Amino acid sequence: MANELGVKIFRQEATFIAGATKPSQLPKISLPQVAFVGKSNVGKSSLINTICRRKNLARVSHTPGRTRQINFFLIAEKLVIVDLPGYGFAKVPSKEKQNWEKLILHYLQNSPNLKLVNLLIDARRGIKENDLKVMQLLHLYDKQIQLVFTKADKVKLKEGLKEEVKNYLASLGYLLCNVVLSSSKNGVGAKELQLSLAQYVK
Ligand code: GDP
Repeated sequence: MANELGVKIFRQEATFIAGATKPSQLPKISLPQVAFVGKSNVGKSSLINTICRRKNLARVSHTPGRTRQINFFLIAEKLVIVDLPGYGFAKVPSKEKQNWEKLILHYLQNSPNLKLVNLLIDARRGIKENDLKVMQLLHLYDKQIQLVFTKADKVKLKEGLKEEVKNYLASLGYLLCNVVLSSSKNGVGAKELQLSLAQYVK
């Protein structure tokens, strides 16, 4: 449904359906799922809110690392957006980091309906070591990714960046990875993202 019709689902109801802090709390969902992951403070909550045209669906937190659970949002009863907890927050104790890994691993291993993982990268900072680790992990579990640069309003992005990043990702084994530039401040990339998610709706 990668067309205007598909985008319409984001004008319909969006509701929080479940939150999980441990594997046993993960809901069993047969609908297609699309996930969002990135470093704490990358702008993930803002972007989910922008895509879903809601102010407060995903909480925009000014305390990085506070949202330590996987949140599931149902869109138009057709698609599930999965908000994975942020990583790379320096003040998080190692025990909590291990719990993050355990939960994410369990989710990745047990989610055949997870169609796409949007990996968010702060456009001002670029791809960092822990982003690469997450990319490798997703590759290991055969998950398709889409790379999304956030806060594009804050920097002047150089020409040819998308191609450069695509080539880089191809060298890591991601041959068909889409790259999107986005901003929750001015809405750049929102429609492209909506279209990319809607294609998984049956
Ligand atoms: P999360 O921790 O990844 O969920 O990030 P948030 O959505 O809570 O955003 C973290 C901070 O970045 C907040 O202060 C937001 O207002 C800011 N922010 C998020 N998206 C954008 C954006 O597109 N442009 C700008 N300039 N700031 C943003």
